[in-house]
Amino acid sequence: MWDFSTDPDFAAELDWIRDFVVRECEPLDLLFPAGGDPYDVSNEQARAVLQPLEQQVKDRGLWACHLGPELGGQGYGQLKLALINEVLGRSYWAPTVFGTAAPDTGNAEILAMFGTAEQKARYLQPLLDGDIVSAFSMTEPQAGADPKEFLCRAWRDGDEWVIDGEKWFTSNARYAAFLIVMAVTDPDAAPHERMSMFVVPAETPGIEILRNVSTMEEAEDEGIHGYVRYRQVRVPRDAMLGAPGEGFTVAQARLGGGRVHHAMRTVGKCQRAFDMMCERALSRRTQGSLLGDKQAVQAWIADSWIELQQFRLLVLHTAWVIDTQPHGAARTQIAMCKVAMAKVFHDIVQRAVHLHGSLGVTHETPLAGMWMTVPSLALADGPTEVHRTTIAKQVLRGYSPAPGLFPTEHVPPRREAARARYGL
Ligand SMILES: Cc1cc2nc3c(=O)[nH]c(=O)nc-3n(C[C@H](O)[C@H](O)[C@H](O)COP(=O)(O)OP(=O)(O)OC[C@H]3O[C@@H](n4cnc5c(N)ncnc54)[C@H](O)[C@@H]3O)c2cc1C
Repeated sequence: MWDFSTDPDFAAELDWIRDFVVRECEPLDLLFPAGGDPYDVSNEQARAVLQPLEQQVKDRGLWACHLGPELGGQGYGQLKLALINEVLGRSYWAPTVFGTAAPDTGNAEILAMFGTAEQKARYLQPLLDGDIVSAFSMTEPQAGADPKEFLCRAWRDGDEWVIDGEKWFTSNARYAAFLIVMAVTDPDAAPHERMSMFVVPAETPGIEILRNVSTMEEAEDEGIHGYVRYRQVRVPRDAMLGAPGEGFTVAQARLGGGRVHHAMRTVGKCQRAFDMMCERALSRRTQGSLLGDKQAVQAWIADSWIELQQFRLLVLHTAWVIDTQPHGAARTQIAMCKVAMAKVFHDIVQRAVHLHGSLGVTHETPLAGMWMTVPSLALADGPTEVHRTTIAKQVLRGYSPAPGLFPTEHVPPRREAARARYGL
């Protein structure tokens, strides 16, 4: 059954969220530009601003909507989450205020899925309560998209695991209370069974943040992506998350959800850039008419609207597949969302920036900040090329070589086969 309607009670919640995000969260983006201090839970000034807003969201019953009721969430499912996330995506800080910010969401999910009772009590609960933040430490300086190249090792020594190696781009490492670290525990095993995952408290001796790397949109000295050295870091035996050799499976469980949630938020970002493009088209005059009256501008608006609607429907349909089909059924569609997200965001933001003229390249509007995140979208959670390969391989599985396309003595040409079929 196909149904594109939103139930009225939930639509009312969406209205409340939209109003709250525009009124309370979008100003935060001006107060605290991308990255930086509000992630620091010991920063009292930032906490004083964020906590009352988070409380309003909790009072409304909308905190951590990505989680099921057993973990204090609403259990809305992915489709409703997609509709919420596309509103939250309008603002950099809205996901934090609603308890749905990466990388904490993914870390919470894998702790819930694979954690022991003790790990859940110690790490998951304070994470869900918003009392701490966490980091996910997988990418290495010499390897990102291909885990077969990972070098960070972990080995058993008595009742402890010893972790040794370097990780690159561990977002929020500087603020994290704990880091989830992927390390090679069995180098001789099959590639996808070589690694295991560990939950490592940030204060464990041997963890050294070599640099806090900043991306384009972050100030150079305020980066949040840790280049981290784990120098013979010792953790107890029960610090492993999941079973030995299960690190890749745990990572995949985390990344699949993360990618589609990111795509949901990107719908909102595209919508915001598109809104600004339209407002500009209706307010700027040149050579006797509005920009919106120029044919070239109309083409940009039409193309952007078509691309945005296609992308949004793909994301919503993917969410629906996750909700209604067996686990794993949405794998190809999630990859499609990931690829489409980077392209559509690039194209719409580029046109929006261009239509704003010189204003578009300044920090007077959110567009410059959006533009600077364009390259990251095609890289974080895996480069576009890798996801294209996943999609193509899966699609090709549904095909077989075309019989008779090229005539050979064994396979008659297609037209002759058709003639024979009808006795002509
Ligand atoms: C904003 C941001 C936040 C991040 N946060 C985290 C985090 O919290 N934790 C974490 O562990 N990592 C994080 N990452 C790292 C991210 O997961 C990696 O950037 C990603 O996996 C790609 O790895 P790489 O950067 O090493 O690029 P590489 O793997 O070196 O890829 C570089 C380029 O090589 C080409 N390429 C790579 N593989 C293929 C292929 N199979 N076929 C064809 N071409 C290919 C592509 O053009 C690709 O863009 C983050 C990255 C960004 C940008």
